[in-house]
Amino acid sequence: MNKKNIIIIGSGITGLLANHLLKKKFNTFIIENTNNIGGLLSSIKFKDMYFDYGTHIAFKINHKKLDKILFDKLNKKEWNIFKKSVREGIYNFGRLDKNSGTLDARNLEKEKIVKAQKEILKKRQKKRFHNLHERLIHEYGETLTFNIYKKAIKKIANQGLNNITPDFLENFSIERVRLFKNNQVLNLKRKPFYNSKISYNKISDRNSPYEKYYHKKGGSINWLKQIIDMKKISLNTFVTKVQIKKKKILNIKLSNNKEIKCHKLIWSAPPISFLRMIKKKIKGVKPNSRNLLIAHLEINEKINHNLHYMTCYDTNFKIYRVTFYSNLRNDNQNKPYNLSCEIITDSNSYNEKKVINNVLKELKSMKVISSKSKLINSFISFKKSAVIIHSPESYKSFSNQIKICKKIAKNILFLGRNNFKHSLYQNLVDTYDQCSKLKN
Ligand SMILES: Cc1cc2nc3c(=O)[nH]c(=O)nc-3n(C[C@H](O)[C@H](O)[C@H](O)COP(=O)(O)OP(=O)(O)OC[C@H]3O[C@@H](n4cnc5c(N)ncnc54)[C@H](O)[C@@H]3O)c2cc1C
Repeated sequence: MNKKNIIIIGSGITGLLANHLLKKKFNTFIIENTNNIGGLLSSIKFKDMYFDYGTHIAFKINHKKLDKILFDKLNKKEWNIFKKSVREGIYNFGRLDKNSGTLDARNLEKEKIVKAQKEILKKRQKKRFHNLHERLIHEYGETLTFNIYKKAIKKIANQGLNNITPDFLENFSIERVRLFKNNQVLNLKRKPFYNSKISYNKISDRNSPYEKYYHKKGGSINWLKQIIDMKKISLNTFVTKVQIKKKKILNIKLSNNKEIKCHKLIWSAPPISFLRMIKKKIKGVKPNSRNLLIAHLEINEKINHNLHYMTCYDTNFKIYRVTFYSNLRNDNQNKPYNLSCEIITDSNSYNEKKVINNVLKELKSMKVISSKSKLINSFISFKKSAVIIHSPESYKSFSNQIKICKKIAKNILFLGRNNFKHSLYQNLVDTYDQCSKLKN
């Protein structure tokens, strides 16, 4: 019997996993419009070392089948494997805190801390929120909203709180805040509402049961290698035409002039790109998309702490997040000492020398590298529109776009971060579930 064709758009972890799950039962094809495999989890090889687009640590998720696919074939000798929580730090209000990466309200003046505690402990009714401002005031209170959250969010989103969707906090992992003493934290965390808002004061207080993996030479792409099937991937290729009849996609034409009969189309790219391709004009609001500029550095001095990564919410600094690869590799004795520094920016151009000099200055000023550190090598990568900040209106438009696509073509399936699955965990589980349905 002839196998049916499934065409997968995008070679990020979503597209690669979907292909891996479906390729036995169907004829699968992955179409990727850049020359990189892995999407946000692609890596750049520099000499013998890999640099990533941000902190991407492979972690088991306690899902028997997915963990088997994603971890069983890894050669354990090549990986630094750790069970304890990822060591994250934070830089905010002019100081480095190596205890935890969560926002810390315990630095506020005493009266403000007491007020913030009262506000968050106040009894409240469940509510549906229209925007992030409403949610913060209702769930966290005015003191935390204006003294802690507003500035941190401005750095990531560069938008007012009214103009951002309520789920922003979870998407950027800032839903938990440090505000209470250790014994109070343990009590509060027994209740689901407070467990989702209150953070442990030290990352070491948290028990993370899941194994985490980082390749000894770095590179999230090394994790994906076991599900990359080069024979199935067409790089630098995009869809130019879709033939739709009776609400079904029948055929797809590619930029390399190939035509493929299509039984199912899996779309891990933004829905708007499908609508544009079929020349369907719809009214709607665009999300605010920001660019990710990443300065990758190799320095001569050892990293003087054990953090895996650090997030900087201090608006006096341009750096947003730093990944310390030598600590992730558990190899801080041997050169090179390399790191990647992410900057979220609205600018489309940059002066490489200026950016690198400024990043080095900021790292020294935050004291996350030694003041004697000298640069050995550096380069910059730039991901346009990598950071999507939805407004309440753009969020509606986005889900509307998906609905319209599904009305136009019944055999399209949206997966991945472009289907509202922002965290890697949600994304993997959803891709697994949806692909399992297709197989049955
Ligand atoms: C800024 C940022 C930081 C993050 N940090 C972390 C983190 O630290 N830890 C973590 O666990 N998770 C993190 N995540 C989440 C994680 O990166 C995502 O869940 C996951 O990588 C999404 O995979 P994806 O395949 O759905 O999308 P992507 O990785 O974006 O892949 C989509 C692919 O589709 C291709 N494509 C797009 N349009 C087209 C088209 N028209 N035709 C063909 N191909 C196309 C793209 O080039 C890309 O290769 C982060 C996400 C973001 C945005």
